[in-house]
Amino acid sequence: MDPWNSLKSLSSADVAHLQNQQLHAFITTHVYPFSPFYRRLFDQKGINPNDIKTIADLKRIPFVSKTDFINPNNPQQYRDFILQPDEKLIKQFWPKGKLIALLAKKIFNGSESVKDAMNREYRPIFMTFTTGTTNSPVPFVYSRHDIDNLNISGSRMVRLFDIAEDERIMNIFPFAPHLAFWQVFFGAVQANVFALSTGGGKVLGTEGNMTAMMRIKPSVILGVPSYIYHLIRFAQQKNHDLSFIKKIVLGAAKVTVAYKQKLADMLKEQGATDVKIFGTYGFTEARSAWAECPAQHHESSGYHLYPDKEIIEIIDPETGEVKGPGEDGEIVYTSLDARASVVLRYRTGDFVKGGVTYGECPFCKRVCMRLSSDISRLSDTKDLQLSKVKGTLVNLSHFGSVLNDMLEIEEWQIEIRKHNNDPFDVDEVIIYVTPRKDVNESTLLVAIKEKVVGSTEVSPNEIITIPLCDMIKRLELETANKEKRILDLRPKG
Ligand SMILES: [Zn+2]
Repeated sequence: MDPWNSLKSLSSADVAHLQNQQLHAFITTHVYPFSPFYRRLFDQKGINPNDIKTIADLKRIPFVSKTDFINPNNPQQYRDFILQPDEKLIKQFWPKGKLIALLAKKIFNGSESVKDAMNREYRPIFMTFTTGTTNSPVPFVYSRHDIDNLNISGSRMVRLFDIAEDERIMNIFPFAPHLAFWQVFFGAVQANVFALSTGGGKVLGTEGNMTAMMRIKPSVILGVPSYIYHLIRFAQQKNHDLSFIKKIVLGAAKVTVAYKQKLADMLKEQGATDVKIFGTYGFTEARSAWAECPAQHHESSGYHLYPDKEIIEIIDPETGEVKGPGEDGEIVYTSLDARASVVLRYRTGDFVKGGVTYGECPFCKRVCMRLSSDISRLSDTKDLQLSKVKGTLVNLSHFGSVLNDMLEIEEWQIEIRKHNNDPFDVDEVIIYVTPRKDVNESTLLVAIKEKVVGSTEVSPNEIITIPLCDMIKRLELETANKEKRILDLRPKG
């Protein structure tokens, strides 16, 4: 029985008590003894692991971020974050009670069984990578214990989405050593629900995915927003009856209200009249994902967190100060039950508006901590040389929110390039758009320019309309794991 069932009815004081106990045990029994990175860090900073007794004590532990995993002189740096127990360390660090229990197990069940249990708990057997577009990918490894946790988060999400045992799932996340595909794969296996994992557009092609969908008629479809949208548009062109679709679960990218509405409208036209659309949030370092529960398209329940598996802090990205409930800030992750790769106070670089809230969820009535779904990347800013005089920091996610929210736009792409292709000249911003059917192009172009200037203070050099087939190629919608929404063609370096 998954303890989340009982956890969801605990008060916030009970949750804090449980997290305090778990944090202390996790740090003293697993992290400090067996993590080369954290033992070194604690020793350098004079932190006694026994002094970390409550969530408030977390403040004493420095943050880590992606850069801590990357060292040009040591490509194996990520290994420092992997728990590496051996007999000597166990004897040195484990409390007497735990050592006696281990010894008793050895006496009664034999040393092989102790070895098996230790291997199951700690030995890395599985790996996923970060999908960094700027940094090199960082590997995160899982032990069997971590796979069990991946199963748990998967089955908790299946429960949140109210997926019944006799429903059929189609997993269209790109097949890759990335969290999303495997989270769904393991979650469905654990929940004992039929799932077809197609591998996405790159593996089966859009035609192939469509044929599979029409054959198995899944009630639940999971995938990346841009590709799901593309697939439903394809079904619309073929005039397929999609009335079997009841739920769509999206991951690996931000989902806006406008997107949910657009997708729901298209599905309705194809006969799927009452579709619930869910956003999810997860990242490689957590080796887990969280999800929304059923709500109307213009509302979001936020992502339901697992207080027995992690601590989510919200901090001021400038000062590092920890924020209170419901406050905006950067998402910081600490695992409470991880083995293999372990991070404490990991700065995600994701900024959330509305932070973490406590109490009963107004939609599913679970008493559960929830993370607001209004999340954007902090590092989406680019330095553009728009005039000869000085560079301007431009937040590219603002372009995305303007263009995504315009219902007249079918697809869009931003291209940043050098004027005349001259590396010493100014930068140019070009917007490519494919208008939706029956939209007046000249009115649309004026509206785009106005909205983009209003939101970003950048006046695009050109706005070009192109047909959908060309746009699909430009975005690499059918060929890449992640679409090329913003294309920076400036010379690197
Ligand atoms: Zn809920």
